[in-house]
Amino acid sequence: MSRDPRYDILFEPVRIGPVQAPNRFYQVPHCNGMGSLRPRMVAAMRGIKAEGGWGVVCTEYCSIHPSSDDLPHVYASLWNQGDIKAHALMTGKVHEFGALAGVELWSGGAGSANLLTREVALGAGSMPNVHGHPFQTRVMDKKDIRNIRRWHRAAALRAREAGFDIVYVYATHMYLLSQFLSPLHNRRTDEYGGSLENRVRLVRELIEETKDAVGDSCAVAVRMSADDGAGTPEHPVSAERREIFEMLAELPDLWDINVHNYEHEMGVSRFVREGSLEKTMHYVKSITSKPVVTVGRFTSPDTMVSQVRRGIVDFIGAARPSIADPFLPRKIEEGRPEEIRECIGCNICYTGDSLSVPIRCTQNPTMGEEWRRGWHPERIQATNSDATVLVVGAGPAGLEATRALGQRGYNVMLAEASTKLGGRVTQECRLPGLAEWGRVRDYRVHQIQTMPNVDIFLDNNLNAEDALSLGAEHIVVATGSKWRADGFGRYHNKPCLDLGSTEQIFTPNDIFMGRLPQGRALVFDDDHYYMASVLAEALVAQGVEVCFVTPENLVSAWGVMTDEHYQTQQRLMQLGVQIITAHGLDEFDGSNARLSCVYTERTRVVAADAVVLVTAQIPTDSLYKEIAGKIESGTSGSVPAPTLDKIGDCDAPAIIAAAIYAGHRYAQELGTDREQSAVTRQDKLFDPD
Ligand code: ADP
Ligand code: SF4
Repeated sequence: MSRDPRYDILFEPVRIGPVQAPNRFYQVPHCNGMGSLRPRMVAAMRGIKAEGGWGVVCTEYCSIHPSSDDLPHVYASLWNQGDIKAHALMTGKVHEFGALAGVELWSGGAGSANLLTREVALGAGSMPNVHGHPFQTRVMDKKDIRNIRRWHRAAALRAREAGFDIVYVYATHMYLLSQFLSPLHNRRTDEYGGSLENRVRLVRELIEETKDAVGDSCAVAVRMSADDGAGTPEHPVSAERREIFEMLAELPDLWDINVHNYEHEMGVSRFVREGSLEKTMHYVKSITSKPVVTVGRFTSPDTMVSQVRRGIVDFIGAARPSIADPFLPRKIEEGRPEEIRECIGCNICYTGDSLSVPIRCTQNPTMGEEWRRGWHPERIQATNSDATVLVVGAGPAGLEATRALGQRGYNVMLAEASTKLGGRVTQECRLPGLAEWGRVRDYRVHQIQTMPNVDIFLDNNLNAEDALSLGAEHIVVATGSKWRADGFGRYHNKPCLDLGSTEQIFTPNDIFMGRLPQGRALVFDDDHYYMASVLAEALVAQGVEVCFVTPENLVSAWGVMTDEHYQTQQRLMQLGVQIITAHGLDEFDGSNARLSCVYTERTRVVAADAVVLVTAQIPTDSLYKEIAGKIESGTSGSVPAPTLDKIGDCDAPAIIAAAIYAGHRYAQELGTDREQSAVTRQDKLFDPD
């Protein structure tokens, strides 16, 4: 198929100083939990983005010197020859597919605690570490400033040697250079503080010196936020921020624009929609003739074209859409945009950085596994078997297993008890703010429907006899899980809650089915991710008065990992939900609930007409057990008996990303030595020589 001419503009080459990008698709710098610790993994992952058509592929934040060290959060570094060799793996892969490689040189300032290197962090002033570590920065003296300039220049030269085409001056995200720009944080009285011109001086010097060092062959990009947090919601951009752009407008070869509020910049879809940075950053292009890129979780080619045509950006910047679908540009180019695996805005990818483990993605189970397991987002080993696989359950695990097995060439029967595909995703995407999660189902259903070797049987609640009678050589059970109604969870490690009448007890499954509490409901969150807060929001929308109780100190505490905790707690507070943290639910008599403080064990009583328990789940694994019993007793009815597996929530309840991964892994490994595949390549000892 050929590309729709409406999208031609996205495939125009764009000059960036001395280099030229082959198209307008620009993977902006993004963390991945691999960085300098796992260079082969990162090189394979970035290379696949280039293969998928991204015209520019950047690194994550890349430290110029040991005084910028963010461990345990994994960053890249360009400190020495070893780093050059490590990055050359990545630039080599990126160049193989005709893309440009960019590197985001990073000076951490009060954003780096230097827990590995034990260097004192440098700052425009003496400032507490912005992530809460009990360290302050040293006020940079003239020598420190000379050092930063020298280190930055040296890192730029190393970047060129490593093969990079674009070198960044990184002046945002609360790191060192944004601290220099800020009138609040920069209280210096020398030529680097005070007047705007003085505060901009270091950024200007670094741009000029980077150009001087490598500008003949590398483009110099500046990453800066369009606003500085000093504006108002109606007028987010302060006069001063505009002036900074005017002062530096023509100096760099490219502007990479973000916004001051990180939760907005990379907000989850529950709170932030596609293209939402435009209202803050739209003015930048009117100030500079240089190309401008910004992000906005763009997945619609029409929105992308509109951004370019209306003069908002020259490049379509993406981190998450390039993670969910590394082949997004290629799919538009080849006239198959409906095959794009659209990002759902869940930010599971961000947990790789939060937790210092390789990146993962709900939509793209191959993300982070390109090197370790050799997985590819678009290609999979074809099977030469003519066997049939029965997949039972069409939630995310069953759908992904079906899709990938179908792609491998297996004959697949997908049986689903209900009349709808999607399982938990179909239920959860109806909850407030989670509509985009339906994309998990939609992408897979779209793919499966084009496969002649896949048959779907809806409204088929199989029992063991049914499943075995179909004669499949392989059976994989993906029957999901149900939320518990007995209080068992982290707070109660046995079903011990005295709950009284079950009429007044609700679980998320009840609410999915439309069984709602009346009056005043106590939502007990012992799960700590999104479910309880989303249900609280849904109940408020139905006129239910909600009291939210959690043994954690924060509402939806695990949301810190996905950077959505702040907006979640803010939302519940704005909705008037009563929030009681650090308390467990001990008892409910139908009109009152007794709570205990997790620190003091002091009790308190709150009035409630109903309790919604969001604690833990029970795997729906009875079908699996029954089939396993028949196979084990030799009564399966076929010789040889089918292979039997369980995947997803019916195996171990978890996040949607885990169910997708389980489905994908099953499909990848069917017919292979599974024991062997558990032992994967470990990219932990990188020897550049
Ligand atoms: P996961 O997240 O692991 O994919 P879900 O709970 O989302 O699990 O989906 C499980 C699906 O399995 C649901 O759509 C449910 O209707 C279906 N299911 C459960 N038991 C059976 C069964 N015995 N036969 C067919 N489908 C089933
Ligand atoms: Fe998008 Fe979620 Fe994948 Fe991140 S993990 S890229 S937010 S789908």
